[in-house]
Amino acid sequence: MPFTPFHFGPALGLGLPFRKYFHAPTFIVANVIVDVEPFLVLLLGLRYPLHGYLHTFLSAFLVGLALGYVMFLLERVLHPLYKVFLLEADNGLSLNSFVVAGVFGTCLHVLLDSPLYADIRPFYPITANPLLNPALTLGVYSLCVWMGVLGIIYYVGLLTFLGYGKLRRKRDARALLFLLLTFFALYTDRL
Ligand SMILES: [Zn+2]
Repeated sequence: MPFTPFHFGPALGLGLPFRKYFHAPTFIVANVIVDVEPFLVLLLGLRYPLHGYLHTFLSAFLVGLALGYVMFLLERVLHPLYKVFLLEADNGLSLNSFVVAGVFGTCLHVLLDSPLYADIRPFYPITANPLLNPALTLGVYSLCVWMGVLGIIYYVGLLTFLGYGKLRRKRDARALLFLLLTFFALYTDRL
């Protein structure tokens, strides 16, 4: 549960740069919606594991599918809002782009949680968790933070360049490359 805000890292770091290929708002929601489960358990004081049925690849897949479809249905209403915040490129995305964003986001959430928690059963109905490895905790947290930093840098770049309508497609690719190089330079500098 305390890990939830960290899921915004990969949500932004992957969702924004690839927003032309899969639906970024769906991907962002998908990365955090899985934690509705521990949120409700804690809020209602339920006798239920914090990482129960929803924290399995099987449920995550189904929830991702459903989320993608719902977001696709809501697209007509919400598209103007997404455009204001530059979360969508101009090209209309297909249903597939929503569904892929949903499934990828929810499954990524389960994958990132799996090494960290003893109560998680990612491969349910198989109850063993071969991914459990608490030694990876710091690494997973760092990865999420750095992906978040990348996402924020990319978003600031989008607001700066696209906001003024100056960025063309080729420049966009060059800007992304530049941001990636900056990110890796910063990261390796810290090692
Ligand atoms: Zn979780």
